[in-house]
Amino acid sequence: MNNAKNTHQVKAVTVHLTDKCNLICSYCFSKDYRVLNSMTEEIAVAFANWFVGQSTNGKYSITFFGGEPFLEVELMAIIIDTIHANKKKDTSFVYSATTNGTLIDSNISKFIKKNKINVMLSTDGDVEYHNLYRKFPNGQGSYDCFAKGLSNVKKVQPKITGRMTFTPETVGALVKNHEFLLFEHKLDKVAATPTVEADWDEQTLSILEEQIYQLSAMLLEYWSKGQYLHIHLLEKEVYDISSDYTKKKVYPCGAGRKMAGVGIDGTIYPCHRFVGMNEFKIGSIFTGIAHSKTEMFWNEPVKTDDACATNCDKCKLNKNCRGFCYCVNYLTTGDIKIPPFNYFRIKEIYIKVVSKLYKYLIEYERGLLEKMLKQSYFI
Ligand code: SF4
Ligand code: SF4
Repeated sequence: MNNAKNTHQVKAVTVHLTDKCNLICSYCFSKDYRVLNSMTEEIAVAFANWFVGQSTNGKYSITFFGGEPFLEVELMAIIIDTIHANKKKDTSFVYSATTNGTLIDSNISKFIKKNKINVMLSTDGDVEYHNLYRKFPNGQGSYDCFAKGLSNVKKVQPKITGRMTFTPETVGALVKNHEFLLFEHKLDKVAATPTVEADWDEQTLSILEEQIYQLSAMLLEYWSKGQYLHIHLLEKEVYDISSDYTKKKVYPCGAGRKMAGVGIDGTIYPCHRFVGMNEFKIGSIFTGIAHSKTEMFWNEPVKTDDACATNCDKCKLNKNCRGFCYCVNYLTTGDIKIPPFNYFRIKEIYIKVVSKLYKYLIEYERGLLEKMLKQSYFI
């Protein structure tokens, strides 16, 4: 049964300008699929022409990705210029980039400003935690270069989102690192995600639970002092808890439907994270998308008879669970629609703790609840 109409139009595309990166972060998911090349200028132009060509009206977005996308600023310029020269009436294009920040000097920050590129920075917290996984090939931590890049971005972009990854080894500093990014680095928003594929055990899961309680307390404390803390992890869970996905089935994300990822050779995939995985090629910028290959993303969104914990219909989290990342699911269970059991365990903790926050907000802090629900679900 199709859950939605397959309109075959991509609204948001992540384009891999290069597989190369100046860092070797230990948890980087793309390193297994790298061929260590960059897109050619011809492919950059062809990519822009394909994306414009399939547009009809409304807003479209391009995220520059890699490897490290700011190794290829020239390619960004070519794509932006080609889009600008050819875009159709009634369409608009917005740009963003996910970067490790280490290459952003004053020239690149001018380029960011000129082209209104929304920069999202990958960072894990203070110097100790940032340097734990985010290293140069010689083993040196990247914090100092990151901090310089961040100060250059700040000069041209007032609101910056930090993407933080946490693992069983770093979960004990989840609150501390949120504080650091929000108050020391003065980021506007922190979007933290766990490496679900890591080895979580009872001890690290109970640390996670304690940290989520503390994050909730921090949110309430600062709200009482007149400051809203943009903590994506809590916003997303409050959103899920306020929803009832048993009434309206939803997709975990837009991969393979409204979203796509494009590799350096112009091959199209369901999203950035599938780039390089041969079994998930869905088309090419030269021939378009083969829609038969995206059907699995349009069919029943996620729930299967035998999902991560049990049959979803019998699962206690069903009402507030929209499933999980198709790509991580595939890499861990072999099925894009079956999350790993760790997902259930982590989601169970999120819902347990954030349900209490949600109840408190309903009773005493409606203004804060509305503010959280207004924030966009996706980053
Ligand atoms: S946690 Fe797993 S089993 Fe439970 S509803 Fe979500 S996907 Fe289904
Ligand atoms: S959640 Fe996973 S599958 Fe979906 S867009 Fe993000 S990385 Fe891709």
